[in-house]
Amino acid sequence: MESLFAQARAIREEQYGKEVFFRGLIEFTNFCKNDCFYCGVRAGNRQIERYRLSLEQILLACKTGDVLGYKTFVLQGGEDPFFTDDHIIEIVSSVHKAYPDHAVTLSIGEKPRESYERFFAAGASRYLLRHETANEEHYAKMHPASMSLAYRKQCLFTLKEIGFQVGAGFMVGSPFQTPQTLLEDLRFLEELQPAMVGLGPFIAAANTPFADKPSGSLAQTLRMIALARILLPKALIPATTALGTISPEGRERGLMAGANVVMPNLSPKSVRKLYALYDNKICTGDEAAECRFCMEGRIRKFGFTPSMVRGDAVGFSTKKPSRAI
Ligand code: SAH
Repeated sequence: MESLFAQARAIREEQYGKEVFFRGLIEFTNFCKNDCFYCGVRAGNRQIERYRLSLEQILLACKTGDVLGYKTFVLQGGEDPFFTDDHIIEIVSSVHKAYPDHAVTLSIGEKPRESYERFFAAGASRYLLRHETANEEHYAKMHPASMSLAYRKQCLFTLKEIGFQVGAGFMVGSPFQTPQTLLEDLRFLEELQPAMVGLGPFIAAANTPFADKPSGSLAQTLRMIALARILLPKALIPATTALGTISPEGRERGLMAGANVVMPNLSPKSVRKLYALYDNKICTGDEAAECRFCMEGRIRKFGFTPSMVRGDAVGFSTKKPSRAI
């Protein structure tokens, strides 16, 4: 495993040096119409308190992020019908207008092509939509019959066609995952050639059908990060919060295995705990500034350089990296 990680690290260094890009994550709604069996904010979970951020709250989170130096805002949420396309466009264009040099990333699930086109026109340039698993049978064991892998994949290709920098990915150690399904996940990434790859361990969430399932392992997640890096040298790969949740230095180990992005939280502290995709999520008690500086310290300790540049994927448009902090 060490030699696998060393190889992945060398490739990452060739492409991105020692820089680790920061993205400010704003979790703006935990309402969701979907019922994914693994997810703590699934519609069927009646035990959790739901919240939505207003446009003003979102803009305030961006302002906090901007002061802290962030150049990317990631707006993530459940598939919340309250936020119509017009709503999302209002949010995206307001953020884009206030911060024209910043990247706006959306992560709000499956939408028709027309909606994606309008979000892109409004100023969103990146979209995260993990495929979750590239195996049909496996997909059917993790989602209700109303959801389909074919549609999810189609969304990813559509997003790419429109011009988004697209992020796919999957949970490692999700229930019913096998070496075969993992291989299919990697093959799918190879086919899609996404700009970003989101990988984190599955972690059980209370009051879900998978509440008693074991979590994905650190070792297996690191292995997948390294393989993703080797397969897609230019990809932006985050060391995820879930990785930090299963192991105290999980995110740092992720960077050592080839990851090159971190996504500290910018959501208001009051709602942090409520965006509970899984149990025992870390960093829910910290202010945005604490997360920002905690992460910087962790990164430096492992010999990497925190970077607040916009950090587009190599080979993808716009501004060149300039200033490391
Ligand atoms: N609604 C958006 C955002 C989903 S949340 C969408 O559909 O893309 C972001 C990611 O969190 C999901 O894609 C999933 O891979 C991950 N996630 C959900 N439940 C999880 C769990 N129990 N453990 C680990 N990761 C989880």
